[in-house]
This record gives sequence, structure tokens and C-alpha cells, in this order.
Amino acid sequence: MNLNDFIMANEVPIRLGFFFGIFAVMAAWEVVAPKRALTVSKAVRWGNNLGLVFLNSLILRLLFPAAAVGMAASAAEQGWGLLNYYPLPGVVAIVVSVIAMDFVIYLQHVMVHAVPALWRLHRVHHADLDYDVTTGARFHTLEIILSMLIKFATIVVLGPPVVAVVIFEVILNATAMFNHGNVSLPRGLDRVLRWFVVTPDMHRVHHSVEDDEANSNFGFNLPWWDRLFGTYRDQPRAGHQGMTIGIHKYRSTEQVSWLPGMLALPFVGEVTGYAINRREWSGSNE
Ligand SMILES: [Zn+2]
Ligand SMILES: [Zn+2]
Repeated sequence: MNLNDFIMANEVPIRLGFFFGIFAVMAAWEVVAPKRALTVSKAVRWGNNLGLVFLNSLILRLLFPAAAVGMAASAAEQGWGLLNYYPLPGVVAIVVSVIAMDFVIYLQHVMVHAVPALWRLHRVHHADLDYDVTTGARFHTLEIILSMLIKFATIVVLGPPVVAVVIFEVILNATAMFNHGNVSLPRGLDRVLRWFVVTPDMHRVHHSVEDDEANSNFGFNLPWWDRLFGTYRDQPRAGHQGMTIGIHKYRSTEQVSWLPGMLALPFVGEVTGYAINRREWSGSNE
């Protein structure tokens, strides 16, 4: 059995192993040294956020049983995609694929902030009133489906090795849980680490109610795209303790903390125009 076959056969245990392992580490870290006090009880947050994650996993499995890995395997079989036309040495192909897929995720993230209909879906991620490890996996089901379709398209165009897709998904999942943690690193360590991976203090800025702050630090994994494309922001103006997490006007717990409210959230509110820098209130805070 070669490495590809092994990964194809064990994709689910590999993925779940990393998910539960890193989740447990982050959850323990949040108990020992939380960065901010939660405004909604952990039981409500975790029950509902993880309920949404469970629902999404179930629906994804039903809709796309072969998932991204299956798509990469078919692309390889059919000879689709750049890297199947122009093969690179194994490790180089993996590194190039992981970086390219991360860039697509960055662009997708900017797009879901810019396009009004997509912002409606993505605001479920942002409406969380607190910021912890479960925020990192909290996305509306329709956004999860959209992400999967974009991933399929990326794979067909790129033709990444199957193992690169698994590595990418495991890394993205791990870093998303890490940088949504209600934790922080010593300032010096954060500064250095920020050149290689998005840190909790870096991504927390993106969850600010202030729209210029929410429209920065779009990276989920590699921090370079924000620096390259001018969307990088060092710290929140009000500081990590003083900043408000969430979205203006969507502050009721039934709407943003309980699963039925979260699922309905894209469909409420008036249809508005261009979503970026959508300031509709006066003053600097609520
Ligand atoms: Zn966002
Ligand atoms: Zn986030």
C-alpha cells in the first residue's frame, strides 16, 4: 500500500485524530489562561457552535461522500489540472499545492466579505459574541457547501497531489482552531510567529465589530497574503480587552448564539448594497 492509498483509506481517522487532539489542547489552554471573559456561557456556546459543526459534517458527507480528497484522486486519474500536466517533484508539488490552496482560501474570504449575498452567509461566523476555539469551525451550512465547491474547482484547475489535499485540510483545520483560541501568546513570540502563521491576536482583529478591522486579516493559516495585499492590521484600536467581538445590530443571543437563529441569520435583515465598509451607524461603538 503506498502513501496515497493509506491516506485515502484512513482519511477520516487522520482528520478526526488531529481535530480532537488540537481541540482538546486549545480547550484546556482556554480554561487555564483565557484571554477574555466569555459573555455567553460556555455550555450554550459549545452546544450550539458544535451542533452546527456536527450538522455541517453530516450534510457534507451526504452531499459529497468522496470530499476534496476524492476530487483530487479523480483529477489525478483523469490527468486534470496544472500539476498533472506539468508534474513537479513530490515534495515541491505538495508545498506549492498547500500554498496555492491557502491563497484561494484567502481570496474566497475576501470575496465573502465583499459580495452582499455571501456576506449574509459569512456573518454567521462573525456574529459570534465571543471568540474561542469553537468559533473557528462555526460557519453556515451554505457557506460550507460553497467552500467545498470552490475547493473542487481549485483542485480541478491545480491538480494537487492527493496527499497535499489531506495535509492542507488538516493544517487549515488545526490553524483555524489555534487562531480562534481565546488565548494569547507572549507579545514577542506572537510577533515572530506572525510571520509564519496567523496567531490568535492577529485573527481576533478580524472579529471586531468595527468594520475596518473586520475587513482586515483575512488569512486563516498563512499570514503572508494580508501583508502582500495590504489587508494586514496589527492590533485592534480598542485593545484585545476593550474591543467588541461580533457584528453591530446582531447582538441577541437567540439570533446569534442558538442554532436555529444562526441557521436563519443569512435570511434576516434588509438587502443592502456593497458589503465592504458597510458602516450604517454613527459613533465609534454601539
Ligand atoms: Zn471573515
Ligand atoms: Zn474567524
